[in-house]
Amino acid sequence: MELQVQPKLIIHGGAGSSLHGKGGLEAVRRSLHTVVEEVYSLLLSGTTASEAVVQGCYMLENDPRFNAGTGSVLQSDGQIRMSASLMDGALGRFSGVINVSRVKNPIELAQFLQTSPDRVLSDYGSAELARELQLPTYNALTELRLQEWIQERHDNFKSTMASVVAEPELAETSNARRGTIGVVALDTNGKLAAATSTGGKGFERIGRVSDSAMPAGNYATEYAAVSCTGIGEDIIDECLAARIVVRVTDGMFLKDAMQRSFTEAHHNKRDLGAIALDANGAIAWGKTSEILLAAYHDGEQIGDTLEWTGNDELTSYC
Ligand code: ASP
Repeated sequence: MELQVQPKLIIHGGAGSSLHGKGGLEAVRRSLHTVVEEVYSLLLSGTTASEAVVQGCYMLENDPRFNAGTGSVLQSDGQIRMSASLMDGALGRFSGVINVSRVKNPIELAQFLQTSPDRVLSDYGSAELARELQLPTYNALTELRLQEWIQERHDNFKSTMASVVAEPELAETSNARRGTIGVVALDTNGKLAAATSTGGKGFERIGRVSDSAMPAGNYATEYAAVSCTGIGEDIIDECLAARIVVRVTDGMFLKDAMQRSFTEAHHNKRDLGAIALDANGAIAWGKTSEILLAAYHDGEQIGDTLEWTGNDELTSYC
């Protein structure tokens, strides 16, 4: 019989430059806190970490504010291609889909693949799987993302990434960045899981592969779990999620593993963020970008990082 432990939860809705207005910030806060509240109560009632992170992703994918599922950004050709992954830390098992289109919740496919002999599928295979599972065809396009893309086309695609969250003002002043979602949980049995879902960085070349469905962007063992956001190429170059998790697995405290990994990322001029938990219940987050949209439940209360500037520190924890 395993020990009952206090569950922990941290989620993110992307990293990048500041949100435009306080209105945007409060709306994002409400969205994130609602998900934390709901998923945390699932954890308290005994839901496994793996199921809880899927449920959290599901909710965030359905929120058009974030760049995953409904509200995903458009790629250079005006199409939406989404990627998602799930890693069960206790089982040490990764699964995911890359560049899937016309499904509502890519994380569902990643979850299904956990028990499949073939665990990471690209575009064609993901579409075949969605058909096999008889998932209804779904158009994840929102008006705001379409306007953002039209604006970019007008400007000849000078932005290298889409906006961090969908805000009405962005259609006119498209200078904010990023947005992806991730959920990391520790359940009452002390088991960890991480899940990440994205529409990509926006305006990318067809076939570009996001870090979100790679162990670089989403990784967990029985000791630690991490979900990343930011420029995928930077996350891949740092192999950030795996780097942090392996450091903890090898005996480093989560706080130190985060500090060291973010110092390196900063030194290498990367633009990224990450959320993390360890098996002892430590919660940590870090960023080299301007803001990180994350919220967490520490067992007593909900907190968030929306106004954390991280001026002196690249990482923080509780
Ligand atoms: N990491 C994602 C990507 O590059 C984007 C994001 O985190 O917003 O595909």
